[in-house]
Amino acid sequence: MKNLYKEMGISERVFEYGEEILSGLKERFREIDEGAEYHQLKVIDAMRREHVGEACLTGTTGYGYDDIGRDTLERVYAGLFRGEDALVRPQITCGTHAIALALFSNLRPGDELLSIAGKPYDTLDKVIGLREDKGSLAEYGITYAETGLTEEGDFDYEAIREKLNDRTKIVWIQRSKGYASRPSLSAEKIGKAAAFVHGLRPETAVMVDNCYCEFVEREEPLLLGADLIAGSLIKNPGGGLAPIGGYLAGKRELVENAANRLTAPGLGREVGASLEVLRSLYQGLFLAPAVTASALKGAVFAAFLYEGLGVKAFPGAEEERHDIIQSLEFNDPKALIAFCRGIQAASPVDSFVRPSPAPMPGYEHEVIMASGAFISGSSIELSADGPLRPPYSAYFQGGLTFPHAKFGILNSLEYLYREGLIVL
Ligand SMILES: *Cc1c(COP(=O)(O)O)cnc(C)c1O
Repeated sequence: MKNLYKEMGISERVFEYGEEILSGLKERFREIDEGAEYHQLKVIDAMRREHVGEACLTGTTGYGYDDIGRDTLERVYAGLFRGEDALVRPQITCGTHAIALALFSNLRPGDELLSIAGKPYDTLDKVIGLREDKGSLAEYGITYAETGLTEEGDFDYEAIREKLNDRTKIVWIQRSKGYASRPSLSAEKIGKAAAFVHGLRPETAVMVDNCYCEFVEREEPLLLGADLIAGSLIKNPGGGLAPIGGYLAGKRELVENAANRLTAPGLGREVGASLEVLRSLYQGLFLAPAVTASALKGAVFAAFLYEGLGVKAFPGAEEERHDIIQSLEFNDPKALIAFCRGIQAASPVDSFVRPSPAPMPGYEHEVIMASGAFISGSSIELSADGPLRPPYSAYFQGGLTFPHAKFGILNSLEYLYREGLIVL
C-alpha cells in the first residue's frame, strides 16, 4: 500500500503519519457506519411505503402532468424528513434557489425575516438585500433582522424575544455554519428554538437551511418542531448521482406556496417535467446515507490529521458532528491555496487543473475552489473551498468514497509538506 501511495505522489512520511492517525479512528468510524445503517433503513422504508416502482424511474417531458415518478419522490422525501409535504425538483437549480424560493413564496410586503443564527450564507446577501441586487426581498418591502449565537454556540433567547414582533413571519436558522466561524447546530437545539419561537408567536414559521446536514444526525428538524427545511440535491441527499435539483419539505401550506412561486399560481406542483433525472434522484437518495458517511469519515480524518500538526480545526477532531463540513484555519493564504491544489490534484476528473482564487457570483471576497467532480460544483464529492480573507480557512467536504477522501486529504498534506508550509 505504501508503495502504491508513493507511486501516487504521497511521500512515506505523509503516508505513515496518516496511518498513525487512522489507527486511532476505529471506534469513531464504527459509530459513523452505524449512522449510515440507520439512515439506509429509513430510506428503504420511505421508498417501500410509497411503492416506488420501475415506472417511477422514467420521467416526463413538456408540462409534466401526472408525473408519477416526481410525485412519488416528493412523498418519499416528505416521509423521510417527516414533513407533511415536499417539493423535490430539477427546476430548483441549487441550494440558494431552494432557500430563496422558501423565502419569496412565504413572505409578503411588510413582513420581516428574522435570522437567529447570525448572518446567513454569503449567497443569501443579495436575496435578502444586504447587498443590493434586482428583485431582492428588500426591494419588495420585506425587512430583515438578525440575532447571533451566544459564546457557547447556542441561540441567544433574550435577543430573539426582543426581536420577534408582529411582522416576524419567518424565523430563519442556518443549521450548518457555512463560511462563518461558529458551530453548526444540532437538530435538538433547533427543536428547542422552534418551541421557543412558537411559544411566543405561534404563527411565525421556523425555517431551516438544511444544506450539508442530511443523514448526519438521527433527529429530524421537522419532527422536533421546525416548519420547513430546504436543501440542495448536489449535496448530501443527492448521493453524488443527482445531476441537479433542490428540495423543500415541511408544512403543507408552506410547500404549496413554494410550488406556486416555482411555477405559477394556478399551476403549482402539477407542472414541471422531470425529464431524465428521476432515476438519478432515486438512486442518489438510496446511496446518500453511505456517501454521507464517507464524507463524515473524511472530515473526521482531516480534523485529526491537521489538528495533530497544530492547525485549528472546526469542529474540533473530538467534537460531535452536525454536518459534513470541516474547516481548517491555516492563517496563511499560501497554505489555503496549497491545500486546495492538493485536493484538486487527487480528483478523478480535472486532476490536472490548478485552482486559483477568483471572484464568484454571490460571494463577497475572492474564493478558491477545488472540485474535480463528476457533477459540476457538486460538494458531496470531494471538494474544498475558502474565501481569501483571514483566517484563511479551508472548508473541506465530501467524498463519495472514503478511500478517495483519504487520498485527497493525504495529497493536500503532501502539497503543504513539499512547500515547507507544514513541518512533519
Ligand atoms: C451550499 C449552501 C448553500 C447554498 O447552496 P448552493 O447550492 O451553493 O446555492 C446555502 N447554505 C448553506 C449552509 C450551504 O452550505
